[in-house]
Amino acid sequence: MSLRAIVAWPDPVLSTACAPVDEVSAHTEQLAEDMLETMYAAPGRGLAAPQVGVALRVFVMDATWKEGIYRPLICVNPEIVGTSDRMIEQSEGCLSIPGISVPVSRPDEVHLRWIDLNGAACEQTFQGFAAACVQHEMDHLDGIVTLDRVDAETRARVLTTYGARAE
Ligand code: ZN
Repeated sequence: MSLRAIVAWPDPVLSTACAPVDEVSAHTEQLAEDMLETMYAAPGRGLAAPQVGVALRVFVMDATWKEGIYRPLICVNPEIVGTSDRMIEQSEGCLSIPGISVPVSRPDEVHLRWIDLNGAACEQTFQGFAAACVQHEMDHLDGIVTLDRVDAETRARVLTTYGARAE
């Protein structure tokens, strides 16, 4: 395993719709393992392949490790197949937009299907923080970041801060 560099917004790869993985291979496994190591080191709770510069539909996540419960999840070709009607707004940060957190409103529950590194079909329902995390990572695979989900005023204000930081 090795750490990979995390791409910072507005790198174009973060605005790219990622391609499905044709076949889970040793290459996919290496990518996923590197992504988990990179996510834990960052430290973060989720990381999508475009965030390490790879435009493939893969994300890793562990919503609870910071509370001492390690549940690493590797999702290849994930697909949200159901959402609750109830929306919840939570503050979301992003490893690719360092120092910036914005409120994002999303369904409180999602049902996700994906394949694992053995090529086996998996599915699970996620709620609350984990549901937001899943949707945040799914957004990355579609070239969407948190700043695309806030109103123009919030975006402008945040970009001023982000720009000032970058200088
Ligand atoms: Zn992110």
